[in-house]
Amino acid sequence: MREGRARPGGRSGTELGLVLAGLVLLHGIAGIISLFGAEAGADIILQMFGLAAVRSTIAADAESASDTAADIALTEGAPGVSGGSGHAAAEGGGLAADGTPLAGNRPAPAGSTATEQPPESIVQPPGPSESESASQRREAPVPAKRAALTFDDGPDRKYTPMVLDILSQYGVTATFFVVGTQAERYPEVLARIRDEGHGIGSHGYAHADMGKMTAADIAEDLRLADEALREAAGIVPALFRPPYGSVSDELKAALSDSGKKLVRWNVDPRDWDGTPAAEIASHVLEHAKDGAIILLHSFGGKNADLSGTIEALPEIIEGLLAQGYELTTVSGLERDSK
Ligand SMILES: [Zn+2]
Repeated sequence: MREGRARPGGRSGTELGLVLAGLVLLHGIAGIISLFGAEAGADIILQMFGLAAVRSTIAADAESASDTAADIALTEGAPGVSGGSGHAAAEGGGLAADGTPLAGNRPAPAGSTATEQPPESIVQPPGPSESESASQRREAPVPAKRAALTFDDGPDRKYTPMVLDILSQYGVTATFFVVGTQAERYPEVLARIRDEGHGIGSHGYAHADMGKMTAADIAEDLRLADEALREAAGIVPALFRPPYGSVSDELKAALSDSGKKLVRWNVDPRDWDGTPAAEIASHVLEHAKDGAIILLHSFGGKNADLSGTIEALPEIIEGLLAQGYELTTVSGLERDSK
């Protein structure tokens, strides 16, 4: 392959070299004639031929080398090889099978001599601003920041599988805070969340406002949720996120008794509220910071429209990766953090 490309480059380089040499020669002859007259310049002109031949060779080599470099540059930018919108999704799909994260692990294009490729081209969102491009180049190689995507209220049959498909395409993990009654309805979806390596926490059994419940009712709700998750997919959740973020001393005590960690969030784009996809994505990307716990939903009741969440999710993932974030589970945020 390499020779196939190098040959035409070399040939055109030689032609260019000859043209250049010819121009040099004409210029030289004109100069010599004007300086010494036609006859006196003859010997000098003959010497020029020898010199021009050497120059021609050098010029041809130089052109050949720069043509090869141009070929490599073209290969890196060629559609279907690297870059272009939708590329990350397509390639992430190939890598998701073994769970390998997308960033920094791309196969080299077949037959290419280019092995060094900028990682930012993978995660570049479509049409980034110039400042985003600059920060990608600066931060992409070393993921120093972590963020956790979280999805509440599932599992369901419609949105949760779509969220899982997108996460799988990018090879990233998230955390799902699931509702006990939903786990009873869709145990196969809960099992899929588990099998694809995501974190799973409890979001209560009936999605009640547990901050206003008695200690006894809280304990009962937590127990029922645990039972539902265990029966549906053998899960014993160590994390708990309160429905509506509603917390009381009774709830804190009950969580402490059952050994569950209370998890809230610090980035909330209100994705369940009919917020347009572009607004959801820009809110997340503007408010993200190291340790971000991003609140999204994978179900919202029978009439909830989460199409904005689904549409925004690829942009959120690509944007966070481009900003240098490692996307992890909520438990993963705390790993090696000290
Ligand atoms: Zn909820």
